[in-house]
Amino acid sequence: SYHLFFLEPAPSYYQSLYLSLGSNDTAAAHLHALTIRPHLAGTGANALAAAHVVSALSSHSFPTRLTSYSVLLSYPARRSLSLSAPDRDTVHFALKQETYAGDPYEAVSAEVVPTFLAYAASGSVAAEAVYANYGRAEDFAHLAARGVNVTGKVAVARYGKVFRGDIVRNARDAGASAAVLYTDAKDYAAGKAFPDGPWMPPTGVQVGSTFKGVGDPTTPMWASSEGCERLSIAEAMASDDMPGIPALPVSGKDGAAIIQLLSGDVAPEDWQGGDGAPVYRLGPGPAVLNLTYIGNETMATIQNVISVIEGKEEPERYVILGNHRDAWTFGGVDPNSGTAALLELAQRLSELQKKGWRPRRTIILCNWDAEEYGLTGSTEWVEENRAMLTSRTVAYLNVDSAVYGRGFYASATPQLDELLKEASKQVQNPDNETQSLYDLWMASDNSPLIGRLGGGGSDYSAFVQHIGIPSADISIGSDYAVYHSLYDDFIWMKKFGDPLFQRHVAAASMWGLVALRLSDEEILPFNYSNYAAELEDGALRINERVLGMAVSLSPLHKSIQEFRRAVLKVDSELKALQTWKIWAPWRNSPLKVRDINDRLMMTERAFTEREGLSGRPWYKHLIYGPSLHNDYGAEVYPGVDDAIQTAMRTNTSKSWQSVQHEIHRVSRVINQAALVLSGGL
Ligand code: GLU
Ligand code: ZN
Ligand code: ZN
Repeated sequence: SYHLFFLEPAPSYYQSLYLSLGSNDTAAAHLHALTIRPHLAGTGANALAAAHVVSALSSHSFPTRLTSYSVLLSYPARRSLSLSAPDRDTVHFALKQETYAGDPYEAVSAEVVPTFLAYAASGSVAAEAVYANYGRAEDFAHLAARGVNVTGKVAVARYGKVFRGDIVRNARDAGASAAVLYTDAKDYAAGKAFPDGPWMPPTGVQVGSTFKGVGDPTTPMWASSEGCERLSIAEAMASDDMPGIPALPVSGKDGAAIIQLLSGDVAPEDWQGGDGAPVYRLGPGPAVLNLTYIGNETMATIQNVISVIEGKEEPERYVILGNHRDAWTFGGVDPNSGTAALLELAQRLSELQKKGWRPRRTIILCNWDAEEYGLTGSTEWVEENRAMLTSRTVAYLNVDSAVYGRGFYASATPQLDELLKEASKQVQNPDNETQSLYDLWMASDNSPLIGRLGGGGSDYSAFVQHIGIPSADISIGSDYAVYHSLYDDFIWMKKFGDPLFQRHVAAASMWGLVALRLSDEEILPFNYSNYAAELEDGALRINERVLGMAVSLSPLHKSIQEFRRAVLKVDSELKALQTWKIWAPWRNSPLKVRDINDRLMMTERAFTEREGLSGRPWYKHLIYGPSLHNDYGAEVYPGVDDAIQTAMRTNTSKSWQSVQHEIHRVSRVINQAALVLSGGL
């Protein structure tokens, strides 16, 4: 397939070539090298991992550099936890994840950071324990309704439904003096434990950040560039986005020991443990927890790696690929399966380059640091380059963990839905060579089929929520039990995640193919009709929630109608371009093509608004945002949702007026988006 008038292969030629070049061994070698030692953000080991990424990318002669920032990170200085109850010996928990006989990482495991929750407040608390299920807002509401007083107590909650930072925040808001998060066997030990199976061993602990904000806490809303304005560490730690109370994560074994010593009312059915677990009771007490946590909040240097493959025709248009490098422990899955996929993808692009390929638009490969602390590396980079990225970026394609196991998962802003589906048809299902990734995906029960990008799930957040860049996030598989524990290492991946590394190759194939289509095709492969449908669905759901209230949805419906009209208009212009391309190519002037592409690119920007979400000003996108009570969750019309929740609680006429105000705000950005897309007065 060649262009008619140029002796140059068409984009599809290089796309097929790209798909044929996958290398399991390359992905495996990179994962192995990256996971030799634990490499937490701010450590020397993570600087070495950065050097590995830099050398791999520069070996392909892609101009590659490090961009460093000084940011506030958090490490544990002192931790202790003991459990006592009347007539019992006090138990001092070891707070240590055990290695197993023959673990090749036994020696370096000493470098793994002691189990902790980043940014937890320093302090000591001795108080009765209360069981709070998954620590969601509704779980604490249930405790309140049952008359269980959480004030001054230690809330003990299990991981699994919401972002851990929300669990600690909910505990604090319920009046708890401290929080303990544990891994319940019901959720994380449904089969044989590692190394005999993929499940979490009894002493395994999920660590992680409890910061609800985004980026460096000392530079909220702006970049941590050298010499910049900053909050003091004390000011940053006093932010409402910080957990504000001491907290520790514990293992399934320690969690069970605590729960066993609670009496009081029997917890509801869906609060109970798995098969064979004793009956869970709510407390408070008689179990008393004596918890000390002293954190070391300190300024540390983080390093993003940025590598550029310059475009030939439109070098000032960017397709950006990103993955983080920093890991709580070894990063076998999270995130270096993604880094291995990125480096394998880069290897294939360099092969294409040797065959004469140069992208039409510039491709930028990014390897972020300190994602685990609060999407910090990517956020600082986006904040630093905000206006430039806003004017030039076509799309951002994120891969955090590339491989967790089986299945295909994707989330995106909706103009990329069709592109993802089409691309997945060209990629082989890594677990069945007679099928495509599309077949695997369609046979799945992923619900929804394509997720939306809401919260602090990963590094797409600044791109979507802060500056309105069309974005996608993909993975093979979607969760695993040893997440953020000592056991997330190369052996886990080799034994259970991807023994042959063909799933890494599939992830890189999908990621790279989508990137090539965005970088090389003359007309951007965006389709806004799904966006219109999604806006409408969101409006219908709001409608149901405000029935009978003095709230009018007509501005919203009208703006969506305008948006639909714009979609039809741009569609017919695109059809004309295709027809002329065949019959009268001289009519497709490069300026006309560029105009349509610019409209397709900039429409997403118009969904952002200077002021941002009410009370969450960093979040500029008014269509998608994180759910208020679960940073991992995506909400459509988050500002309207917040206002409705408040109005339902307070039911004042003023609160319903705020709902109306938020509906007007959303309608205004949709009208703006419609004008950008239709390109017309
Ligand atoms: N950033 C999120 C967290 O703090 C999840 C993504 C990840 O684990 O990399 O848990
Ligand atoms: Zn990650
Ligand atoms: Zn992580």
